[in-house]
Amino acid sequence: MAKLEVMLVPQLSDNYSYVMRCEDTGDVGIVDCPDAEDMIAFLNKKGWTPKAIFLTHHHWDHIDGTKGLKEKYPGLKVYGYIHDQKRLPDATDFVDEGDTVSLGACEAKVLFTPGHTIGHIAYHFAGSDAVFCGDTMFAAGCGRVFEGTFAQMHESMQKLAALPPETKVYCGHEYTASNVRFALAVDPENLELKAFEVEVKQLRDEGQPTIPTTIGKELAVNPFLRVDAPSIQQAAAEMGKDASDPVAVFEATRTRKDNF
Ligand SMILES: [Zn+2]
Repeated sequence: MAKLEVMLVPQLSDNYSYVMRCEDTGDVGIVDCPDAEDMIAFLNKKGWTPKAIFLTHHHWDHIDGTKGLKEKYPGLKVYGYIHDQKRLPDATDFVDEGDTVSLGACEAKVLFTPGHTIGHIAYHFAGSDAVFCGDTMFAAGCGRVFEGTFAQMHESMQKLAALPPETKVYCGHEYTASNVRFALAVDPENLELKAFEVEVKQLRDEGQPTIPTTIGKELAVNPFLRVDAPSIQQAAAEMGKDASDPVAVFEATRTRKDNF
C-alpha cells in the first residue's frame, strides 16, 4: 500500500502545518496553513507544487494561508468540513464523517471530531499509520472546548483513541511541555508519563518537535483519555464530579486544565 512521507512545518509561534508526499506518485499535500509565504518558501526549497490542502477546522491559525496558497498554486484543492462552508471561505471540496479523500495513491478517512469547534474533522491515513487531528488531540492533551460540549469532545477523543496504537498523531500545536506539566498534576504516579516528561524536556532543550506521538503513547500518558484511571477519577471527585461517569471526569479534567 502506498505510504506518505510527512514533514512538520512549524508556523507562527507554536502551530504545526504538515507537508505530505505520496511515495508512489510524488503528489504533495498540506494539512492546515496559517502562513502562506512561509509554506511557499518551504515548498520552493523542495521544488514541490502541492495538489491539495486538508483543513481541520476554521480557526485563523489553521486556514489563513489558504488564500495565498490558492493564488500561488491555481487548481489547488482545499478540503473542509461540509457543514462549515461559511467559515471556510477558500475551501473547494467539502467532506463529512466517513468520506474518503486521497493524495496520490494514499487514502484517508475523514473523522468528524467536534468539541474544540462544532465543525472539526481529522484525516486518518490508515496505510501510513497517520492521523492529522488539528486541535482535537494534542500530545498529552486536548484542545479547549470552545463550541461543542464536553460530551462531544470526549467522544471525539475516544474516536481517535480507537485508531490502531501504532498510529502517529500529528496535531496542530507544540503544547506538549505544558500539557505534561498539567498531566503530572492530575496523574503524578504514572511512570510512562514521568518517562515522557524526561523525553519531552530533552527534545525541547534541543529545539526539536515532540510530534508525532502515537495513539498507544497517548493512551498511556494523556489524562483526557485516562478517564478510567483512579488518579484522574480522584481529581474529578475532588471537584465534586461523579467519578464513575467518564464524561463528568473528562469535563472536570478539561475545566481544571483551563484554570491551570
Ligand atoms: Zn483551533
